[in-house]
Amino acid sequence: MFNYGRPMPNSSSGSSVGSELRNCHCGKPGRIFMSWSLRNPGRRFLACYKPEGCKFFEWYNNDFTGRTKDVVVHLNNRRIVLEEKLSMVEEKLAMEANNKKFGRTVKFFSYVMVVLVGVLMMTHSHK
Ligand SMILES: [Zn+2]
Repeated sequence: MFNYGRPMPNSSSGSSVGSELRNCHCGKPGRIFMSWSLRNPGRRFLACYKPEGCKFFEWYNNDFTGRTKDVVVHLNNRRIVLEEKLSMVEEKLAMEANNKKFGRTVKFFSYVMVVLVGVLMMTHSHK
């Protein structure tokens, strides 16, 4: 596990959550979000309370302890695996849909060709 010489936070955590929330540029207390990026999985940050609000951003320093972080990293890895699987399934479905569409188009054009040939033969035989 990585510990960059930072002192571990007090074990009795959770009581002071909310007291150190800083205001965003709109003057409202920022909301706590969780980062799901590869570099900082499970790390929390403060941002504007509005989805399309100001550009306020600040890491939330009340970070996770090691055990919780391990769980979060594990869950994040699971999420990446599942997302890869999902995109593979979506690709496969899209390919199958394309094949079906292609098959229908081929059928339609062969039908048109048969009708055209038939019409040509009939017009020629009546002369
Ligand atoms: Zn704001």
